[in-house]
Amino acid sequence: MTQKTALITGITGQDGALLAQYLLSQDYKIIAPTRLNPDKSKLKTLGINQHQGIEFIVYEKWSDFDKIIIQCLPDEVYHLAAVSHVGESHQNPEVVFDVNTLWTIQLLKSVEQYSRQSKFFFASSCEIFQDDLHGLVSENDQKTPSNPYGISKLSAHLMVQYYRDVKGLFACNGILFNHESELRAPSFVSKKICREVARIVKNGGQPLYLGNIAAKKDWGYANDYVQAFQAMLKQKMAKDYIIASAALHSVEDMVNCAFDALDYNITWQGKDLSRKALNQDGEIVVAIDEKFFRPLDQRFLKGNSSNAQRDLDFNNLTPFASWVKSMTLNEYRELI
Ligand code: NAP
Ligand code: GDP
Repeated sequence: MTQKTALITGITGQDGALLAQYLLSQDYKIIAPTRLNPDKSKLKTLGINQHQGIEFIVYEKWSDFDKIIIQCLPDEVYHLAAVSHVGESHQNPEVVFDVNTLWTIQLLKSVEQYSRQSKFFFASSCEIFQDDLHGLVSENDQKTPSNPYGISKLSAHLMVQYYRDVKGLFACNGILFNHESELRAPSFVSKKICREVARIVKNGGQPLYLGNIAAKKDWGYANDYVQAFQAMLKQKMAKDYIIASAALHSVEDMVNCAFDALDYNITWQGKDLSRKALNQDGEIVVAIDEKFFRPLDQRFLKGNSSNAQRDLDFNNLTPFASWVKSMTLNEYRELI
């Protein structure tokens, strides 16, 4: 069998690193365009930062992708790079649109002109749905985002559909709900909770301060999700899929699972801003700080992943408590 080539943008991020590891295990050759002096720490954690199967190429501007595509003629393109934090997108909407949308269009155009046989995956997001929507959403539900990140992702998502439906490319959107792992950036609540809980159990000290612990998310484990990216490109027809766990868990649930992972007992008291968790010695280990609250954080959105379950074998997902445990034990080991 001939070796497959995959181009991955965003290889230095959580999903890029995990996808690279997964594809290398299938003997892929990986082309990895990066910015100058890329931070390869996540790849190093996975032991693949110097893997011979990865060819790093430094690019300067989006138009460099014409040359990169011509050179490598990839079988598969995974466009994962993005300004990925919703909260931060309010500060620099023009940068977010440039990176998340215009770059995607450039890549689609390069593929259309120079490598039409390449199959194209785009990391779209659940943030493309309405901000005040509750319940279960499916691929074709109404999309009216109201933050710059969601708007940039929806614009790119529609361009992916345009290149599929009008220009005839094999291009698809993975509509991704939140997914976490040991490689998650510390600005996300999962990493913060697992890291801080490990620190409290090991060394004590300051409590963990959180914002809205009643917030509920459809969370999954990134290691499961990246497998679905590849499965989408293996389908006969290019199609968009929701990739989600279809279950909601609160931030408080996550805190409980993290302490459970280290066999550390806590008891919750109080409500709203005065809610706190105490350990067996009556010390406060978790408290609320208003500064971590967000203006818009009310929705309880779940993704209907039944199409992915049926077509992509997106089943037997790692349970919530298991991956929170894995992340917490990992943080605990880092402290030793
Ligand atoms: P991540 O860890 O934040 O990684 C983002 C990647 O994008 C990194 O490789 C980063 O490169 C690159 N990047 C960021 N800003 C850039 C810029 N200005 N120019 C060029 N490259 C830039 O994100 P992730 O969690 O792996 O997510 C992968 C994709 O899935 C993203 O498109 C994200 O929006 C989407 N998504 C993720 C989730 C989730 O829960 N993880 C949910 C929905 C959608 P550097 O290392 O050079 O900064
Ligand atoms: P995001 O919602 O995709 O930006 O992912 P995050 O992991 O940053 O946040 C997930 C949820 O956790 C949101 O509903 C936040 O409001 C909630 N949350 C509660 N406390 C915190 C906190 O201290 N930090 C962060 N990042 N989120 C928090």
